[in-house]
Amino acid sequence: MQSFFDDTQQLHHPQSYFSRGQMRRPQEVPERSQAILQALSAMGWSATVPPDQGWGPIAAVHDSDYVAFLKCAHADWLATGEDWGSEVMSNIYRVGSGRGADMGILARAARHLADGSCPVGPETANSAYAGAQSAIAAADAVAQGERAAFAVCRPPGHHARRDAAGGFCYLNNAAIAAQRLRETCQRVLILDVDLHHGQGIQEIFYHRADVHYISIHGDPVNFYPVVTGHADECGEGEGLGYNLNLPLPHGSEAPAFFAALDRALAAAVQFAPDAVVLALGFDTYREDPQAKIALDTHDYGVMAERISNCGWPTAIVLEGGYHLPTLALNTETFFSHWKG
Ligand SMILES: [Zn+2]
Repeated sequence: MQSFFDDTQQLHHPQSYFSRGQMRRPQEVPERSQAILQALSAMGWSATVPPDQGWGPIAAVHDSDYVAFLKCAHADWLATGEDWGSEVMSNIYRVGSGRGADMGILARAARHLADGSCPVGPETANSAYAGAQSAIAAADAVAQGERAAFAVCRPPGHHARRDAAGGFCYLNNAAIAAQRLRETCQRVLILDVDLHHGQGIQEIFYHRADVHYISIHGDPVNFYPVVTGHADECGEGEGLGYNLNLPLPHGSEAPAFFAALDRALAAAVQFAPDAVVLALGFDTYREDPQAKIALDTHDYGVMAERISNCGWPTAIVLEGGYHLPTLALNTETFFSHWKG
């Protein structure tokens, strides 16, 4: 299987993480992608540096104001000369507001950073851009006839909104890949098996019938992203019926997860996608610091077999997974069981 990664993706190194009333140690660290690359190496794979396709495929998903913010935020932050922290991090949240561009960097941060887990450092935009290029390359490989391709996306993407970062995510790699695939495919399915609901993907495609989003995740009651990911969010307008959320009770183990996966795959078969984007997270592992679902290592092999047996051309995009001691093993288990 072709895989894609650019060393620039390692440069983003967040120093701050504010969640549930506490400053916490950042979990989305460069060591994550090193572990994944180690797993690929153990299988005899070597990741290819993706070609640079520019900002166009990213702008097809994200608002121009947000892209402009991401590119300049850190320099604008430093340029104030104020005694602020080393990363752009807002304590004011005003996502969705139409104003901000003319109101200074603090207002722009309030508008474009959705929560306390997405600080913008000196290399954040470069790493997110390179990660998005990996996702585009995987989509292009599938569009050109590969049965599957893997984008080692770091930072991850599925929480990134059209106009805001959030949940360790800056650019929505899975949505960018899906939109890219729409250039050659009529119907694209995004299957999201990360522990968390990908509210960014849901938001971007909520009114569309051409991209069907299906997500299995830990129940968002008192769990990120909290305000979305509930079972009654089914799409709107033309998109009604093309958004399927399958939240699982906290502590669910493999039987509940695979029952949900069966439901997801049955809905996917009905949709009959021309291509699939698989948003793949390993934070469903039982020892993951985020875990609300408790899978074991061998379950990732079962997951890979069940999904790949459906036979869809699939661009696989890395999302979460924060338990560094097992990340390589879980990755290798998944890909060694992928058929085709
Ligand atoms: Zn996650």
